[in-house]
Amino acid sequence: MQDLKSLNRLIDAFEHLPSVGHKSAERMAYAVLNMDIEVTDEFAEAIKDIKRKVHQCPICGLYTEDEKCEICSDTSRDHHTIIVLSYPKDVYSFEKIGKYHGVYHVLNGTISAIKGIGVEDLNINSLIKRIEKEDIHEVIIATDPTVEGETTALYIAKLLEGRKVNVTRLAYGLPMGGHLDYADALTIAKALEGRKKI
Ligand code: ZN
Repeated sequence: MQDLKSLNRLIDAFEHLPSVGHKSAERMAYAVLNMDIEVTDEFAEAIKDIKRKVHQCPICGLYTEDEKCEICSDTSRDHHTIIVLSYPKDVYSFEKIGKYHGVYHVLNGTISAIKGIGVEDLNINSLIKRIEKEDIHEVIIATDPTVEGETTALYIAKLLEGRKVNVTRLAYGLPMGGHLDYADALTIAKALEGRKKI
């Protein structure tokens, strides 16, 4: 299919998506080719729009289309408790259980020697600044229960040692080596309830 440059371009584009190999990308590109032009225009616009309009909240790092995110702007929430997340998408794991009313802080990753992600690549300084500036009573570290997540949690806990803030970590319920976005609501709720001081 060397002559179909547009098709190959789309296949290459789909291959940027997670878990999409060449075969799947090919199938998706052909599916697009069979769609009505209104649908493909909408598709293209939606992709362009998301990069123009959605950005990370300057306070917590969650995604928003506004100056600051819905959660940081919500005065009815408990702004003294922060859940520390690796990625913005992890927020849904806690919001869906409806039992957590505090705020969040997104690190944008975890410390990983393999991926070459160091402390300086994560939003840790901004977390420290928040703790210094705002009246934070508890920091709940909710990085994934993986080696990288644990390393990151321990690093943050050590950094916060001696400060007037309780540092807790999600406890039982979560399978080791698992990822938050695969855990069901009950497991997350249990892990949150059973958090412990680290
Ligand atoms: Zn925010």
